[in-house]
Amino acid sequence: MLGIDGKTAVVTGAGQGIGRDIALLLAENGADAAAVDMNEAGAAETAALARAKGREAAAFRCDVGSSEDVERCVREILAWRAEVHFLVNNAGIARDNLLLRMSAAEWESVLRVNLTGTFNFTKALSRPMIKSRFGRIVNISSVIGVFGNAGQANYAASKAGVIGFTKAVAKELAARNVLVNAVAPGFIETAMTAALPEERREWMRQQIPLGRFGSGRDVAAVVLFLLSDLASYVTG
Ligand code: NAD
Repeated sequence: MLGIDGKTAVVTGAGQGIGRDIALLLAENGADAAAVDMNEAGAAETAALARAKGREAAAFRCDVGSSEDVERCVREILAWRAEVHFLVNNAGIARDNLLLRMSAAEWESVLRVNLTGTFNFTKALSRPMIKSRFGRIVNISSVIGVFGNAGQANYAASKAGVIGFTKAVAKELAARNVLVNAVAPGFIETAMTAALPEERREWMRQQIPLGRFGSGRDVAAVVLFLLSDLASYVTG
């Protein structure tokens, strides 16, 4: 029913956290996964965990922020698998600071990974997807990109940018049966959020209707739906 079985997915930032949970849930549902990450050891561990679920998986080291590196990586992925059906742009970083203290480097590094990284991988893989008249792309935004947050101007701008990018590319690619969507998770329990002070975590918990943080698997479930045949009328 899901239509995931036997298809191939590329998941960026799959070396840990939400990306790893996405790759593993896809494997559980019958997809093979290319685990892409700058952290080669993390990506290799994710690929091993996916293989333990009975699917094929491979790890690829790549800096999503570099267009040359992404082009090289996509060539390697397409040598591994002739067709890629799914792309999940999940790699992301945060470099929090108040605007007046934010350095140009903090601004640029976050935009480079979160927004340019999404552009780089989408551009490189949409060409073969258009050719084969099938593709599903899911970009991981954030609730911060919708509501904003003090101390995260760079992160909020990058994640709001991901939403605008998603909507524009969805319009460009719909006629070729390449569907493009974004997911904007709230507070998810991963290494990215573990570093926050307890006081801040408690404040955030109080904003959440269910009164608890989400897990990577909660995000992965929504991604799985968007990649599946159940969402074949959902784009942008
Ligand atoms: P994480 O820090 O646990 O994992 C991020 C992964 O991305 C790491 O494996 C890291 O090595 C990889 N990565 C970083 N820069 C990279 C680069 N240049 N090239 C390739 N890989 C790179 O973070 P997470 O919490 O799992 O977040 C995953 C995504 O979800 C991010 O885009 C994040 O912004 C988004 N998100 C997270 C939360 C949350 O609360 N954790 C909420 C909303 C959105």
